[in-house]
Order: sequence, then structure tokens, then C-alpha cells
Amino acid sequence: MSNLLIYTKKGIYCEIADVYIDPWKKVSKAFITHGHSDHARPGSSQYICVNESKNIIKYRLKTQNVSSIAYGEEIYVNGVKFSFHPAGHIIGSAQIRVEYKDEIWVVSGDYKTENDQFSGNFESIPCHTFITESTFGLPIFNWKPQDKVLSEINNWWSTNKSNDKISCLTAYSLGKAQRLISGLDSSIGKIFTHSTIENTNKVIRDSGIFLQKTELLTPETTKKALKGSILLASSSLIDSEWQKKYGETEIATASGWMNVKKTSRWGGVDTGFVLSDHADWSGLLEAIKATKAEKIYVTHGYSDSFSRYLRSIGYDAEILETEYSGENIED
Ligand SMILES: [Zn+2]
Ligand SMILES: [Zn+2]
Repeated sequence: MSNLLIYTKKGIYCEIADVYIDPWKKVSKAFITHGHSDHARPGSSQYICVNESKNIIKYRLKTQNVSSIAYGEEIYVNGVKFSFHPAGHIIGSAQIRVEYKDEIWVVSGDYKTENDQFSGNFESIPCHTFITESTFGLPIFNWKPQDKVLSEINNWWSTNKSNDKISCLTAYSLGKAQRLISGLDSSIGKIFTHSTIENTNKVIRDSGIFLQKTELLTPETTKKALKGSILLASSSLIDSEWQKKYGETEIATASGWMNVKKTSRWGGVDTGFVLSDHADWSGLLEAIKATKAEKIYVTHGYSDSFSRYLRSIGYDAEILETEYSGENIED
């Protein structure tokens, strides 16, 4: 079998089509799985992504050189067939399928197998070679269903409100923030956002995607307006001055890492909710099995131990050293 995709210093490369997938260096033609900064980097001449990601890529990379296609649509470059399929990771995230002379590869980018009703439903794509992430590729990572976590978050907000406290939930500006907004119960109170999150919300709403009402936090926002509300922000925003100005605030974060760190205070937060935009251990294994792939390449995360585990259960698996990061710094 030929190497339809190869690893180069600039990124994962299809030589026949002269196309890179999520390159970390400047290239002429870049196919992008999603808008996080470790996958979508500035400086390339031409970007191609799915329609839902187009405005996000334009906004974050400050470029107009972005064209987009629909999920499932096929495009040919020098005879190589490319198509983008839902990855379930964040809004506009895609797995990229590459086919040439009966050989099929899938680059999954980042993915999540649970359908969160907002980020698109992960699609299993049969292929010969599957490139998987392994951000949470350890058996200790097992997520509760999203509905349970969201009701924990809404209960937390509601309790804070009855104690006259402001709730502050820290979240990545692209992906996690919008997923949380979609799951918050606005009958409890108002949803305020910090500007980095609100700017991203605007880009997403301008793409025709529905996101429930949020209000931008400004210097004019009053203590009274914030009472009983929830604020989505970066944690650095909440300091001692904040408490003086607005009153007592409970801070929480929602991340897959809370699975291991929730017993101790983490990054100055009071509460940790285990909610990840990546597949957990069983999600990764199910996704890999469903591809029926003969060859598995494992990238960012626990690639060493995860690829070793895959070999131990009979897969031909090896590490692919990319420059993608994980959930901790992808924003
Ligand atoms: Zn990502
Ligand atoms: Zn990533």
C-alpha cells in the first residue's frame, strides 16, 4: 500500500494532491479540521474547511483566503477525492477523508463520540488507515452523559443564585463556551459573557447558527444586573477587585481534566465539572473499531501508552508526532 498521506516538517501531507491537513507551517493549500489554534494556524495561502467553520477560520486567522464545502460533499484535487465529515468536537469540526485508487485514509482531527446536539454528530467512516487523537487515551477517562453534567452545572448556578452569589464558569472561547451556553437553563437567570467569548458567539451567529441570548459584560454592567447571573469568562478576569465591585462569586470550570483534578482546587476554581469536547477512553476505542482500519496512527495526548495498548489488542498502531496540543492549551 502506498503512503497516500505522509508526515513532513510542515504537517500531514498528500503529495499527489499537494494538500496539507492542519499544517503547523505555512503551505499553499491547507485543509482544516477545525478552528482551534493548534489545528488552524495563520500564514497559508489557501484554506478549505466546512461551511460551519468558514467564518471562524476567517476571524481567527485574520484571512479572507478561506473556501468551504458542505459535510459529505466531495472535491477532487489531482484525482484525489477529499470529503469532510462530522467529528463532534466543536462547531464546524470535521474528519477529513482522503481517497485515491481504492485506498482510504481518515484524519480525525479532534473528535468526540457523544452527540452534544450542537457540535455535529460524530460519523464513523470505514477506512484503511485512521489517524486518531488520544487526548484522553487512558482508561481512567470515562465521561458521564452530557445531560447529567449540564444539570449539575445548572443546579450549581441555581444554588449560587439563592445564596446571592454570582456564578462564573470559565471556558475556552471557541467550542466549550458555546456548548455550555446551549446547555444553560436561562430560566435561572441571565447569561453574561466576556468579550473574547462574545466575539466568537457573534461570528457563529453570523453564520446562521442559533445560540441562545447572551449579554456582553462591559465596564457599565452593574452589580444589580449581575446578581443571580452566570458569567462565562476566562479565569484571569476574576480577581479581588472583581469581588469588591460585583460581590461574592463562585468560580467553576468544565473540562475533561477535572476527572483527575477535581479533588483539589485547580487553577483557582472552586468547583470542577467533568465535561470534555474530546472522546473518552471507550469513545476512542469504539471509534477506532468502527473504522475497521488496518493501520492506526496515534497523535496528541497519551500517544505512547495508547498506541502500545492498541498493539496489545491486535492493531497495527504507531505514534505520529504532530505539533497538535490537547484540551489544555488548544485555545
Ligand atoms: Zn480542538
Ligand atoms: Zn487538538
